[in-house]
Amino acid sequence: MASFTQAQMAQINQVLDQRYQSLLEEVRDELGRAGDQTYMELFGRVTDVGDQSVADALVDMNAAIVDRQIQEIRDIEETRKRMKEASFGVCSDCGGDIEFNRVLAYPTAKRCVRCQQQHEKTYAGEGRPTL
Ligand SMILES: [Zn+2]
Repeated sequence: MASFTQAQMAQINQVLDQRYQSLLEEVRDELGRAGDQTYMELFGRVTDVGDQSVADALVDMNAAIVDRQIQEIRDIEETRKRMKEASFGVCSDCGGDIEFNRVLAYPTAKRCVRCQQQHEKTYAGEGRPTL
């Protein structure tokens, strides 16, 4: 694990929790706007399940209207798991420590700033039309 103190980990956890809660609210809003009572009922059950993955449950619901939120919820769930492992706070590309300030701003980040920039450059290159 990167050299985060318990207090730092608690801060990161808090950021994750806040993001998670606001995502759940967004999902509830979206489903409410879709006016689908079945979704709303399922969603109530989904958020009640405790340890089970909310993202998986939402995918099972086939709630495509909240795809983006599902992706983010999944990222947060994975990050929570990684926080218990040695790989948390370690860049997946270069193996170096990810700065605390970066992790606090983007708890789901898997790369250090330098590798992320490199990754985005590569990714942007792939996305360019080859006509
Ligand atoms: Zn790196």
